[in-house]
Amino acid sequence: MNDKRVVIVGAGLGGLRAAESLRANGFTGTITIVGDEQLQPYNRPPLSKDALKSGLGHDDLKFRQRDSVADVEWVLGEPATALDLDHRTVSLADGKVINFDGLVIATGIRPRLLPIPGPTQGLFTLRTLKDAHALKEAIHPNENIVIIGSGFIGCEVAATATLLGAKVHVVSLDPEPMIMPMGKDLGASMRQRHESKGVVFHLGRTVSSFNGTDHITSVTLDNGEVIPTTVVVEAIGSVTNVEWLDGNGLDLSNGVLVDHTMRVVGTDVPVVAVGDIARHPGVLYPEAPRRIEHWNMPTETGKRAGATLAALMNDQEPAPDSFAALPAFWSDQFDFQVQSYGLPGGADHYKIVSGDYSGPCIVEYFDSDGTLCGVIGIDTVKELMPYRKQFMERLAQSS
Ligand SMILES: Cc1cc2nc3c(=O)[nH]c(=O)nc-3n(C[C@H](O)[C@H](O)[C@H](O)COP(=O)(O)OP(=O)(O)OC[C@H]3O[C@@H](n4cnc5c(N)ncnc54)[C@H](O)[C@@H]3O)c2cc1C
Repeated sequence: MNDKRVVIVGAGLGGLRAAESLRANGFTGTITIVGDEQLQPYNRPPLSKDALKSGLGHDDLKFRQRDSVADVEWVLGEPATALDLDHRTVSLADGKVINFDGLVIATGIRPRLLPIPGPTQGLFTLRTLKDAHALKEAIHPNENIVIIGSGFIGCEVAATATLLGAKVHVVSLDPEPMIMPMGKDLGASMRQRHESKGVVFHLGRTVSSFNGTDHITSVTLDNGEVIPTTVVVEAIGSVTNVEWLDGNGLDLSNGVLVDHTMRVVGTDVPVVAVGDIARHPGVLYPEAPRRIEHWNMPTETGKRAGATLAALMNDQEPAPDSFAALPAFWSDQFDFQVQSYGLPGGADHYKIVSGDYSGPCIVEYFDSDGTLCGVIGIDTVKELMPYRKQFMERLAQSS
């Protein structure tokens, strides 16, 4: 038994996968996982879908844990407040200080909030199971709900709230929903699919005030329109949970900058970062390191980070191979299944290659030099498999 200790801060999917990978790569020392939520790691994607619709609990959503991590020490319900890299310590909100030999940063992101004047009772965000349960309690049939933001989470909540019987208004500055990854045409087609189910979009608009005394009773849009509502969901993007890392000279300009082994750049101390918070280089995006907030990235980065840290804990060099993971996401809205591989967001141009925008379809996305950089399909999960294979082959060749 190795007498070293690895501390993982952030008890989410990335933290769990890093622990499993440490064990799979031969680390036999102590692993301590610190989390600010009271719960062991659980699956977040259902929070805007099934968990919101039918109130699934932690037992339904908790990740199955491998036997190899059965001996992990859990410190839950305690946020980490500070990191001291020189002394290799993490401080917790309750004053406890934990020493480490190696560290995994896995604290993810939180919803961004707009500085909108007015009361905040009735204002919701969606990141945790607690958030999902609170929002579910607030949604009532035939009553208005206003969602600010028309990205994936905003649109998924719009679909689920409609299925729960609410009258849904989506307010967004964008000209079409989900336009960033999808582009204008597929975004417009998703808007039409939502509209056909009763969702009302207020596009090119933002909310300029929440009205009411203690509790929100209506919102005013920037064109003066007033929408009566007692429930508002802000889903306008995220900020990274990096504050506890301040003062250590790390690059925290957009998450935590790591190298291709997930090792944090700017320190000799063995520290890696995983999941939504890690800004990493990748074979598919050679131009600059990226943060990718997709469900498969905590697993991919967690696997790599665990291998890196296990090597460092054993005084060995991490494997030098490039990081060659394929970004992938899915989204379920009403009975439409969206699936994507690669990086369609930021493409130079796109073309529809199968079906049409009103039904099942596949859209290919290209870089300016004509290279396929991503694909999105609606209700074409099986048909997209050859694209997945093609990307995987490309990754294997270039890594
Ligand atoms: C509502 C919702 C729906 C989603 N749907 C999809 C989907 O359909 N498809 C898809 O591909 N992806 C989806 N995602 C994204 C996916 O769930 C995330 O990419 C994934 O959960 C990221 O894992 P992570 O481990 O990096 O971060 P997280 O799972 O967020 O874990 C980080 C943990 O660290 C904790 N933490 C933060 N600060 C501290 C601190 N200072 N001290 C201790 N602990 C701290 C956080 O509370 C959290 O528990 C969805 C996400 C949400 C929220």
